Amino acid sequence: EHLGQISKVDKKVHAFLHVDIEGALSAAKAVDARRAAGEKLGPLAGVPIAVKDVVTTKGVPTTVGSKMLEGWKPPYDATLVERLKAAGTVILGKTNMDEFAMGSSTEYSAYGPTFNPWDLTRIPGGSGGGSSAALAAYEAPLAIGTDTGGSIRQPGAVTGTVGAKPTYGGTSRYGLVAFSSSLDTPGPCARTVLDAALLHEIIGGHDPRDSTSIPVPVPPVVAAARQGMSGDLTGVKLGLVKEFMTAEGAEPGVVVAFNSAVEALTKLGAEIVEVSCPHFQYALPTYYLIAPSECSSNLARFDGVRYGLRTGDDGVRSLEEVMSLTREAGFGPEVKRRIMIGAYALSSGYYDAYYGQAQKVRTLITRDFQAAFEKVDALISPTTPFVAFQLGARMADPSSMYLADLYTIPSNLYGGPAISVPCGLSEGLPVGLQVMAPTLADDRMYRVAAALE
Ligand code: GLN
Repeated sequence: EHLGQISKVDKKVHAFLHVDIEGALSAAKAVDARRAAGEKLGPLAGVPIAVKDVVTTKGVPTTVGSKMLEGWKPPYDATLVERLKAAGTVILGKTNMDEFAMGSSTEYSAYGPTFNPWDLTRIPGGSGGGSSAALAAYEAPLAIGTDTGGSIRQPGAVTGTVGAKPTYGGTSRYGLVAFSSSLDTPGPCARTVLDAALLHEIIGGHDPRDSTSIPVPVPPVVAAARQGMSGDLTGVKLGLVKEFMTAEGAEPGVVVAFNSAVEALTKLGAEIVEVSCPHFQYALPTYYLIAPSECSSNLARFDGVRYGLRTGDDGVRSLEEVMSLTREAGFGPEVKRRIMIGAYALSSGYYDAYYGQAQKVRTLITRDFQAAFEKVDALISPTTPFVAFQLGARMADPSSMYLADLYTIPSNLYGGPAISVPCGLSEGLPVGLQVMAPTLADDRMYRVAAALE
């Protein structure tokens, strides 16, 4: 059914970069065989899923939305893919994304943009626009995303779907094509909070192959989602971040939808208080030093020698020339911009002023979260300041694109979990509410988010 829906709508939506028809059908048959053999399978066995193209899938093309890895078939599965297969989910294919997960609209994909199923003239968010659009267009009931600065939550918000960023280290990075290693977090995308929790439970948990994976069990996210669905939030204290409510702020329609969701939360028994997180206003510039710095280091491996594209290797040119011709041809403009910013911020003489300073501010943002969580159970905010914008509207000015992550980036810098859940419409387009929780309290955010559905 889902392959049928993909063949019907994906010409228009372009959520997928690769549809693995044979792989999906044989995986589905394998699940039937496991069942027939008496194996006791979990609740998602046989359920189709779409996987963001930043995640390595053995023998299945993984491009990261870049010409650099066009045609590359990884020789191994990411840990989370191994876990999806063990759970019996059926991988439908790989979804479109901004190149190397850098962007907020999926317009930076080297293979053309994805279109928002709500309005095909608008963006589906990014970088994981393909995964969220696939859900919104009923091409898949579940999807995998990765969130470095908001790439699961912001696409979720603008497509009217659910997206959760687990605690950093709560899901394995082994087998992700690295962008910013201290921030990258894979997580679940779904149409309901419970579905996201079920998926989270499968992919989460310690992985010895990822040195930053936390050796603790997955928090009880499914039980928490079910508890939230009862609609009782008595005794739950939620904080409104004062600094988010001022400054440049969100579009008026987003504020209206968010405020009515806050009212709904109050009716469910939650207590709402205002808290101050004074350093959140520096989150965006801090992120745009740390993420590009780590990216400039991580992307050094794409040198035309080890894998993927090689350009200009005529047997005469020097190795260095081949490397730079390859990188010039293989990377798009946004990736090049990030590498340049990162290399500059890390260079001697500027390191202390930029990268070092950003690391200090990152600590101050973490302390803001810690202080807030002494007063409240979770923080809430709109997920993103604006609804899905028109394709092309923010391409000319990168910093206007960066604003999409104004509210999502603080959680990445801190490492705590955060989820986006639909909370109404503005001018007919979806608005998301974000719930941010303390590190390893992922269950708490599922409870609050599920109560809103
Ligand atoms: N939009 C942000 C960026 O461009 C976040 C990306 C992400 O979470 N992968 O860096």
